[in-house]
Amino acid sequence: MTARVIDGKAAAAALRAEVAARTARLPYQPGLAVVLVGENPASAVYVRNKDRAAQGAGLAVQTIRLPADVPAEELMAVIERLNRDDAVDGILVQLPLPASIPPRPVLEAIDPAKDVDGFHPLNVGRLQDGLPVLAPCTPSGVMRLLRACDIPLQGARAVVLGRSSIVGKPMALLLLAADATVTIAHSRTRDLPGECRRADVLVAAVGRAELVRGDWIKPGATLIDVGINRLPDGRLVGDAAYAECAAVAGAITPVPGGVGPMTIACLLDNTVTAAERRRVQQPARRGTISLVKP
Ligand code: NAD
Repeated sequence: MTARVIDGKAAAAALRAEVAARTARLPYQPGLAVVLVGENPASAVYVRNKDRAAQGAGLAVQTIRLPADVPAEELMAVIERLNRDDAVDGILVQLPLPASIPPRPVLEAIDPAKDVDGFHPLNVGRLQDGLPVLAPCTPSGVMRLLRACDIPLQGARAVVLGRSSIVGKPMALLLLAADATVTIAHSRTRDLPGECRRADVLVAAVGRAELVRGDWIKPGATLIDVGINRLPDGRLVGDAAYAECAAVAGAITPVPGGVGPMTIACLLDNTVTAAERRRVQQPARRGTISLVKP
């Protein structure tokens, strides 16, 4: 079998076009504020890509750059200002923060109604309860890819490799909300290959180059590779050994060009959703927690 290749670039382009159309229908320009602390080169690239994509979708985007040694209180003051700014619908603090600034209080300071990364505890709790929410962008992007490819999820066995708060755990919750039977596997899991072999849908979010081998895949299964790993020779690879896995799987995402483009498109989607909810659906509660769909 040769797996169908799931084209994340095409799906992301379609979602960005949809977001641009929704933006154009609004009587105001949705605003996204990105806060970048320090000089992490990978973060700088991500922020530049987000900035470009947001502008392309018609959003008003501002990037606030702060030095790595910025006092935590100053960063908090920036977030407070953005919380109060009516023109800002989405706030994103690019992670990782410098080691001197604990991320938790920073993420908790963001108005949950503007939390387009979906990391605030209130949004995490809503996601756990299966309520409408601004869900984390990478797992949301995976769900969109699965739906776009008509991958059946109801009753399917889904295995998520990795249990981070950014990818693995919210991924598992979204699959559960779609009625999959979900297993979370991680660095302490016994018999990782055996767990993976049971999966109709396998999502790898580990950050270990080519950990998942072809003989870990159930024939015909769907493999979503979230991992982004740079090899010593400069090549970018996922968490799965692509050629081996593609020979067994029914559908597979490439790296790059799979999940990555969807993450940014989902950030734009969350920003416009936040703007619609805050400014159109519940203007009387502007700036407060207002995440419930009508
Ligand atoms: P993380 O380091 O926070 O978490 C990794 C998880 O993998 C942990 O829960 C750990 O238990 C598990 N793990 C580690 N080694 C393992 C092993 N040998 N066997 C089984 N499980 C193991 O990473 P993260 O933030 O969740 O990101 C995971 C990967 O996804 C990284 O490569 C990251 O670059 C990538 N990522 C991609 C996107 C995207 O847009 N495509 C977004 C976020 C993260």
